[in-house]
Amino acid sequence: MLTKSDYKIYLESPIHLWALKHGKYNHIEDEYEKHLKEQGYEVEKLAQQYALKYISPKCNFQKIYQTDDLYSRADIEYKDDIYEVKSSTKIKQEDKDDISFQYYVAKNIGSIDRIFIIYLNKEYIKGENLDLKELFVVKDFTEIAKDNLEKTEINVSHALNVINKANIDELSSCYKPSTCPCKELCHPNLPEYSIYDIPRISKKNINELLRLRITDIKNIPSNFELPERQKLQVECTKKEKIIIDKERIEKDLDGIEYPIYFLDYETYSWAIPQYKGHKVYEDVVFQFSIHVKKTPNSNLVHYEFLSKKKLDPMEEVIEDLKSVIKEEGSIIVWNKSLEKGCNESMARVYPKHEQFFLNLNRRIYDIGDIFKYQMYVDPKFKGSWSIKNVLPVISPDLSYFKLDIHKGDEAMTNWYKMTHDDMDMKQREEIYKNLLKYCELDTFAMYRIWEYLNEIII
Ligand code: SF4
Repeated sequence: MLTKSDYKIYLESPIHLWALKHGKYNHIEDEYEKHLKEQGYEVEKLAQQYALKYISPKCNFQKIYQTDDLYSRADIEYKDDIYEVKSSTKIKQEDKDDISFQYYVAKNIGSIDRIFIIYLNKEYIKGENLDLKELFVVKDFTEIAKDNLEKTEINVSHALNVINKANIDELSSCYKPSTCPCKELCHPNLPEYSIYDIPRISKKNINELLRLRITDIKNIPSNFELPERQKLQVECTKKEKIIIDKERIEKDLDGIEYPIYFLDYETYSWAIPQYKGHKVYEDVVFQFSIHVKKTPNSNLVHYEFLSKKKLDPMEEVIEDLKSVIKEEGSIIVWNKSLEKGCNESMARVYPKHEQFFLNLNRRIYDIGDIFKYQMYVDPKFKGSWSIKNVLPVISPDLSYFKLDIHKGDEAMTNWYKMTHDDMDMKQREEIYKNLLKYCELDTFAMYRIWEYLNEIII
């Protein structure tokens, strides 16, 4: 039997489907994936209310469509029209494949007229109350499903063959082994630092290297054609040499002015906006950490805020931020798109603070760019410029992996638990402390890396 979720796993990679059907698929849902699923259920519940009000009070939910080999359930059905609910603000190829499979199964049993997707309106801003008509977008995908019928039929028959295969021969692995649910099937002996650790390496180059039986990055010939940045990563790995462009780093750091604020936000985003003025998937800032270096010789001072309330945390965050960050000085962040985006959101939701946030964004400096644009390359970064990879190489005494919370999505789900779940004070305090430690390390790490870069350019 091939279900709709099997079909989506098949499209990810036929090997995944084979592994799933032969008990070799090891994917354990982490807290963040569970959180996204929970949000999906919330969206589906509201979409059902929308359907009863704006489609028909006689809508059917979770209607089953089944043939000898195929099984699928429609989120909403009314008079042979099917409505699939997506908790996203834009429709991806996998969503089109999803409804094409749904349409194909329903057509096989002769009960389909049109197929729609109900998804979230990215422009929607919550007023006093939730407006379902404005929150959702309903779009007709019947023509796309019809155009995909032939392709879907071919995929379905191949997927059914894959299920019945005795082994994975002729099934090829993907080009981006990352969170592999069945790595031992595809790459039983992948080297610790492989050709797949080269960011954005092309399929053509992967195929050529595999044809040359090269999977270890160190074995890539020096005359192998690669884009400049990939070539630099490979060369410094082969030579086990750190490459530092002191001139570019000095020029890049030159614009930084005291007092220097090392700033980091932690955010939570709801698919369904919870507070007035918020958008769908608004990045709601619930915590900040700031390390301040007032003058070249002053001590480093740390400030932090973490909301413990279920209410909109942004108002409290703003009050505290304004008490710490003054008119002058540079604001150092890592990967500025988040902090700048949050400042724009807070300026929109709380217009009386607009000038403060516009001023902040004008003073933001992204120290991550020094590693992103390869002014400093260390083989130990393994091609990544994430602060989680850079910090333990530059400051081995500091590491996120010593913390109970060591990445952004864990901070997000822990904050939600701390403010929304029933738990005793001790547990709540434990999470509170762990969240403070995590965010504090983000800003202290930036300070330590900035300090180190200044030492090496002298
Ligand atoms: S390499 Fe990893 S992600 Fe790719 S198909 Fe194999 S198991 Fe899946």
